[in-house]
Amino acid sequence: MAPGPIRSCAGCRRRRPQAELIRIVRCPDGTASVDSGTLEAVTPGRRAARVAGRGAYVCRDEHCADKATRSGALSRALRLEGSITREVVAQLKHGIAAGAATSKSEDERYG
Ligand SMILES: [Zn+2]
Repeated sequence: MAPGPIRSCAGCRRRRPQAELIRIVRCPDGTASVDSGTLEAVTPGRRAARVAGRGAYVCRDEHCADKATRSGALSRALRLEGSITREVVAQLKHGIAAGAATSKSEDERYG
């Protein structure tokens, strides 16, 4: 299977397949929001990015989300005028926690 597009995390700068990252998109009004399509469990062949607009990516890792939002890397990547709002940070962390819970239950089931 052909690997999908590679993107780098705004937190740790590591390059990963886009499907493994959560996408944050710049809305037309200049605010950021989490692309909810990328919060769901990754299924092969699924299009990860659903929302049009300038996007930035972070790993499904709370440390990366923290680093990317606190350092300003994420807002710079999205060319936002202000910083990432608390709502977006919360949305991001909620998505990461949900993903972590999913993979944990899978580990328990299979292993
Ligand atoms: Zn990262």
